[in-house]
Amino acid sequence: MTDGTRIPERVQQVEQYDVAVIGAGPAGLFCAIHAARPGCLILLLEKNPAPGAKILLAGSGQCNITHAGEVPDFTRHYGDHATFVKPALHALTNRDLMAFFESHGLVMEAEENGKVFPVTRKSSDVLAVLVAECENQGVIIRCGEPVQKISREPNGFTVTTGKGDYSAKAVVITTGGASYPQCGTIGDGYSLAALLGQPVTEIGPALTPLLIRQFPFAALMGLSFNRMHFSVWREGKKVADHTGDVLFTHLGLSGPGILDASREIRPGDVVRLSFVGTMRREEFAADLAKRAAENPGWQVGTILAKYPIPERLNRKLLKISGIPDDLTCAHFSAARRAAVVTNCTEFPPVIAALGDYKIAMVTRGGIALDGVNAKTMESKTVPGLFFAGEVLDIDGDTGGYNMQAAFSTGYLAAQGIRKRMETGE
Ligand SMILES: Cc1cc2nc3c(=O)[nH]c(=O)nc-3n(C[C@H](O)[C@H](O)[C@H](O)COP(=O)(O)OP(=O)(O)OC[C@H]3O[C@@H](n4cnc5c(N)ncnc54)[C@H](O)[C@@H]3O)c2cc1C
Repeated sequence: MTDGTRIPERVQQVEQYDVAVIGAGPAGLFCAIHAARPGCLILLLEKNPAPGAKILLAGSGQCNITHAGEVPDFTRHYGDHATFVKPALHALTNRDLMAFFESHGLVMEAEENGKVFPVTRKSSDVLAVLVAECENQGVIIRCGEPVQKISREPNGFTVTTGKGDYSAKAVVITTGGASYPQCGTIGDGYSLAALLGQPVTEIGPALTPLLIRQFPFAALMGLSFNRMHFSVWREGKKVADHTGDVLFTHLGLSGPGILDASREIRPGDVVRLSFVGTMRREEFAADLAKRAAENPGWQVGTILAKYPIPERLNRKLLKISGIPDDLTCAHFSAARRAAVVTNCTEFPPVIAALGDYKIAMVTRGGIALDGVNAKTMESKTVPGLFFAGEVLDIDGDTGGYNMQAAFSTGYLAAQGIRKRMETGE
């Protein structure tokens, strides 16, 4: 790798690269590695002083590289865009990805929940394998060179950075999304592509926490719920049902279940939370009424403590429902019971905002999928222009699905490029 200030002799003499890959995240590094073959000059341009900033952050520095599930099951985890990702996921499966790292000495292990990590639990080990393999394959990585422009030429493209122009027969845009701008990902790929006439959809933060105005449970920050059932409501209509792990934060809701659902949640939506496990509203209402009737001398709080509701939350829910601490079941009227039932099974926080790009783990939207060939990752309108990774309009659930999509689409783009080179197009 060079630091971007000393250009190796070999590069100075080269006027034409075969491939320029823009952005050294998982998609760009993997694409460069797999596009490489003898006699094919590949340039990987990275904006940051070093490659793989997000790989280093992934999985809290442990890198949840993929999920151990079966490939057909993967497609449930990319919202409405699963059809597009399918060919890539079949071209490079999760097993193939694990085998790649294992063949380079980095063993992978799956947690009970299916998340796959390197056994060393170090993202830096994942990045080290990718960078070393780029070097083995003769990929020239130049860091500290943000690409500013890509222009079409009769025989390919000119790629312009602050330090000069590079010509290449094929270009792959792997600049990631617009989330975590501190990683260098500020959405450059969208404008680079749009200038070439490539359609780009509206973008927004995804895998992001929900902010709730005057969140009543702020003091209970850190409280988490396994497999909570919640539903999303818009303009009085239910639009989705979810079950997933939920976490109270000082500003609202987070946790994998909420992050995954955030893709389809908008400000103004109501998220109805159930704190009583798998019990439905009617079932809970009937059970509560029965217990109250059987124990008229008990305080309502004592009855509520029989359900799997954490004690601190229990007290708060009673307060919100207007139940005095010393109210006994003998005085637990139907109206008061209805308020408790609603707050325990359908507590309705209104979404003030979604976490912005600074805290969203990925970006939804991007390079429009109908403008890209799903079997090659090549633009349908600009021959020789390829895309891979998060810059595409693909966002996956938590659990390793985003890294896998980046690696798989990067791999497929490499195959697309090789095919293009072999047929001499
Ligand atoms: C905190 C955090 C934790 C995450 N954890 C996980 C996880 O455990 N598992 C998982 O599956 N996913 C995780 N993700 C999501 C995952 O990291 C991304 O989806 C994935 O990195 C996308 O890969 P990519 O190669 O498309 O883009 P990126 O990894 O974003 O890489 C894009 C690269 O392009 C460079 N670039 C941008 N613009 C230019 C330009 N103009 N010129 C040159 N270079 C440019 C950037 O500097 C960057 O290095 C996490 C995300 C975050 C923010």
